[in-house]
Amino acid sequence: MRVLVTGGAGYIGSHTVLQLLAAGHQAVIADDFSNAKPSVIDRLESLAGQSIPVYRVDLTDRAATTEMFAVERLDAVIHFAGFKAVGESVAKPLSYYQNNLDSTLSVLAAMDAHNVRTFVFSSSATVYGDNPVRERTEDMPTTATSPYGWTKVMSEQVLADLANADDRWRIAVLRYFNPVGAHPSGLIGEDPSGFPNNLMPFVAQVAVGRREKLSVFGDDYDTVDGTGVRDYIHVEDLAAGHIAALDRMRAVDDGWSAWNLGSGDGVSVLALVDSFARASAREIPYEIVPRRPGDAPAYWADASKANAELGWRTRKTLDEMCADSWRWQSQNPGGYPD
Ligand code: UDP
Repeated sequence: MRVLVTGGAGYIGSHTVLQLLAAGHQAVIADDFSNAKPSVIDRLESLAGQSIPVYRVDLTDRAATTEMFAVERLDAVIHFAGFKAVGESVAKPLSYYQNNLDSTLSVLAAMDAHNVRTFVFSSSATVYGDNPVRERTEDMPTTATSPYGWTKVMSEQVLADLANADDRWRIAVLRYFNPVGAHPSGLIGEDPSGFPNNLMPFVAQVAVGRREKLSVFGDDYDTVDGTGVRDYIHVEDLAAGHIAALDRMRAVDDGWSAWNLGSGDGVSVLALVDSFARASAREIPYEIVPRRPGDAPAYWADASKANAELGWRTRKTLDEMCADSWRWQSQNPGGYPD
């Protein structure tokens, strides 16, 4: 298949591009580079041993988006592009709704106009909101606790309505748990701009000496050691889930379907810190600070639907996630070159 990967220069997108190519597909990247450096493309091309077409495009620009479909003969789209910082979305809701919803609508309209109706959407476990049931299943009601989360819930609804209206669409909604890790080469990985919002890149920056210490947000939750529990998934396993979803859509017509991409295991903040300290052979200084507002105590995936229907499961351990994050961070202490 010739697959358009929007946000293909980003963290999850870049790993997925490599796996598409390794699986014998063709990949075309569309990215506005608002949160990615162009140097990632050189690294992708050298790892893949081939050149990769790249469109620098703002997907909310309908004319530019449609033009891309007119030039490329595409079979499917994996739509990663979007703003993703929860806290920033609370401060800038209009920007999040405008960017994330407009780009999704624009891509779908361009696809429809060019008879491309196989779509994989980057969703998030955030659509389960603060449901007290910690093990998340796909049939739980969806809701949100931030504008970012609402853009995922709303986009999922648009996609469900579209599949309902026109049975030519095949739509995979992939709900990611907590992606971490990096390509085993250490050449591509997560490169957050500014202050990292997420735990793993923060821990990695502490280990490499860019930050003094980790703040652990609360140690009085009802969990194994009092710290927050999440389902961390290696980005390589996550990328593989997208290839599995494309394979599924070629074989089976589900219309619209959602799959959790997670390991099924819950890991506490302190367990992750401990694993990272071993992987890096560095001390990770930390202090316990008050809970972060809006954080859920604990949740993880029930991944059995993806296991059964996609024939996919996670393979990498927490220690491998930390070892690969560390290799990326230590080889690229300042992230990608400018
Ligand atoms: N966390 C923390 N310190 C940090 C960042 C995160 O203790 O600097 C905790 C957070 O409270 C949560 C877990 O790590 O329990 C994962 O947080 P992250 O922001 O990575 O993901 P999300 O909250 O979206 O699951």
